[in-house]
Parts: sequence; structure tokens; C-alpha cells
Amino acid sequence: MGTPSVPAALDAALERELLAACDDLQPELHRTLAALVRFPSVLGEEASAQDYMEGLFHGLGLAVDRFEVRDEDLAHVPGFAPPVGRFHRHDNVVAEFRPRRQLGRSLILNGHIDVVPVGAAELWTTPPFEPVVRDGRMYGRGSGDMKAGIAAYVTAFLALRRLGLEPAAPLWMQSVVEEECTGNGALACLHRGYRADAAIIPEPFDQSILAAQVGVLWLSVEVLGRPAHVLDVSRGINAIEAAFALYRGLETLRDEWNAPKSRHPAYADVERPINFNLGRIEGGEWPSSVPTRCVMDIRCGFYPGMRVADARAAVEARLRHAAESDPKLQGVQFRVRYAGLQSEGVVVDRAQPALEALVRAHEHVMGAEPNWLASTATTDVRVFNLYGDTPATCYGPESTHIHGIDESVSLESVRRVTQVLALFVARWCGVEKRSGP
Ligand SMILES: [Zn+2]
Repeated sequence: MGTPSVPAALDAALERELLAACDDLQPELHRTLAALVRFPSVLGEEASAQDYMEGLFHGLGLAVDRFEVRDEDLAHVPGFAPPVGRFHRHDNVVAEFRPRRQLGRSLILNGHIDVVPVGAAELWTTPPFEPVVRDGRMYGRGSGDMKAGIAAYVTAFLALRRLGLEPAAPLWMQSVVEEECTGNGALACLHRGYRADAAIIPEPFDQSILAAQVGVLWLSVEVLGRPAHVLDVSRGINAIEAAFALYRGLETLRDEWNAPKSRHPAYADVERPINFNLGRIEGGEWPSSVPTRCVMDIRCGFYPGMRVADARAAVEARLRHAAESDPKLQGVQFRVRYAGLQSEGVVVDRAQPALEALVRAHEHVMGAEPNWLASTATTDVRVFNLYGDTPATCYGPESTHIHGIDESVSLESVRRVTQVLALFVARWCGVEKRSGP
């Protein structure tokens, strides 16, 4: 893409008006966010939320590209993750803005519409898909991760419109599926040809700018024990107990990777960068048989710079070691399968012009330097940075208990993020007087 020069800053009065327009639009943003939280857009159930996004983008008078994320189209694309299921109406929605003439740099604003499962619903103070505002925070599954980010980037675009302006460069707003489990949604956008001079994903990282993220591996370990009657359990191998023993063995790898001498430099100050999680377990038949089969679904983090194949090899070797070194596990068999996230880590180049521009926009709005975040989780920025030749980072609101109970987002922080994004868009893309109605 060409990178024509644009002024580093707009007219100061215009910038003040833009920030004020963001403030004026907050009630509308809250309505949009609440509407989005009401859609229970967990994996495979995103269609109604995407219908809403399609309508929202059409309402802005933008061209909308809605397309199905099909594993068969992506299977040979670098960064593809083996799917975790087949889904109906599994679509991305992309709004496209084209300027009359390009003066500035192009931009992708990306957010994922999928949300993680609610967990034990009875633990929530109020139902997870009924948005409620308490003490300046909106509660609900997906409120922070990351429907507030989507509402913020739409509002930032709308704020320009309110001033009779529009970006002077191509701008795409993407609402994608499958961020939480594969990243194939963002990858499908890339495969369809979407590239830009920069991309920002307003993930809820407390207005820090993402500097690095770990790699993440999802795997299933199927453990086969040895059958026995409960009268003589000592002759059998209980597959469920064996699975736990194998997982305890695997945790020693996590502890090694977390030791200060093993840490990636980007994580030198992070106490526990690498987390493993035993997320799901299934096994056994009934109380009177020693279980012969157990499947564990596990998530393992690993450092940037390590290839997925190396992470897999390290994990498998540690499981083998655990099986061989424990006398109680003699004769146990296990098999490893990979589905879902198979994601390399990323270190974001802070010297990129887009990151400098984002720092300046944050400083303008917040009156202080931003923090940088080395994340212990993964996001779709890897797709842009590693495979899309599009410098990307995350910058979004403050949120608590994402993936947990009583997830919420700070509405004041969402307001500030809206302002930073609007200012960034205006400075990065440049602005023109609006042409259309
Ligand atoms: Zn997220």
C-alpha cells in the first residue's frame, strides 16, 4: 500500500470538536453495546450478532461484505488452526469505507464477535446475556471481551461523520468469528484480501498497547488405562487418575518455562507468563468399573520465537517422560491430538509508525504515556503481523473478569478509547469533508 504523507496532527480546534463528538455519542454507544451483549454469540451461535453488525454497517451507508468462514478454503493457509467443529451461518462481516481520493494511510479496525462460554450461570450476579450498568460499568458476557471495543470503533467512525468529515483513506471495520478458539475468522479476512497500512484491535487491555503476546496450543490427550473389576482395582490402571498424573507431569514444563532464566526478554517482568490449563475432562462409564478411557483438553502457553512444532514436541516429550518415570503409570497408553488454537507468539515492533501514532493519540487524550503490555494470552494480532504484512496491535478499554464470572467493562474507559480511536483514525487516515448524504 502507498503511504502518502499526512499532517502529524490536525487542526487543534477540529481535534477538540472530534473528542466532544465522541462524548456526545456515548449514550448511543451504550445502547449499541447493550444490544450486542444481548446476543449470546458463543462459538457457533454468532449469526444473530452478525446480522446486527451487518445492519449497523448498512445504516452507516457502508458497503458490507458478509462471507462464510469455511475451513476447506483455509486449510492450506499459513496460520490455519484445525477446527473445533462445523457451524451453520458462520460468517465474518466487513464494512468498507472508500474515500474519493486517498490522502492518508489505510486502516483496519478489527474486533471479534464471539464470546467465551458463561461457565456456571448461577454464579453470575445478574444473567450473563442481560446487560446491566452498575457503578459506571456494564456487566455481561462479552461486554469487555470485546463488544465494547467493537462499539468504540463504530462510534469513532460516527464521530467523524457528526462533524461532516470522513477518512481520507480506505478504512475497514471487521467483525469476525472464532477469535477465542482458532483465529480462523481473522485469517479468513486476510485470505479474502484485506490488508492495510495498520490494524488496531480494541481488546480490553486497560488502555495499554500490546507489545507482545504468547503462543497458545490447544491439545486433547486421550488416555487409555487397563480395565479391572472394582473388586481388584489394583490390577487396573484408572484412566482418569492416570490422566491427572500425566497432567501433573506436564505442569513441570510450565514451571521450567516460567523460571526467570527461561523467560523471553519481553516477559522479563511478568511473574508467570506461561500458563497451562486443564480445561475439560471426560472419561469413565459408571461407578463400578475402573475407567479405561479419559480425554483431557488442555491449553498451553509458550513464548514468542518458538515454533508451534517445537512447542508440540516439548509437550509430547514431557507427557512421555511423565508416563515412563511413574511406576504407577506403567502400561498406560496415550495419544495427543491438536484442534483449536495453534498460535505462534508475537512481538510487536514498537517503532512502527502506527504504534507511534497510537502512543501520541493516547497521550493527547489521557495526558500520560501509555503502558505497554506483554500479554499472557493470544489475540488475532498475530494473523495481521505474522501472515498479513499489516502492522497490528491491541488497544482497548479496562475490563474485569473476562472469561470469568461477572465480566464487566468500565464505560469511562470505553469513552476514552473511543476518543483515542477517533483521533487516531483522523490523524492516520487524514480527513476530508464528507461527500455523500
Ligand atoms: Zn478478546
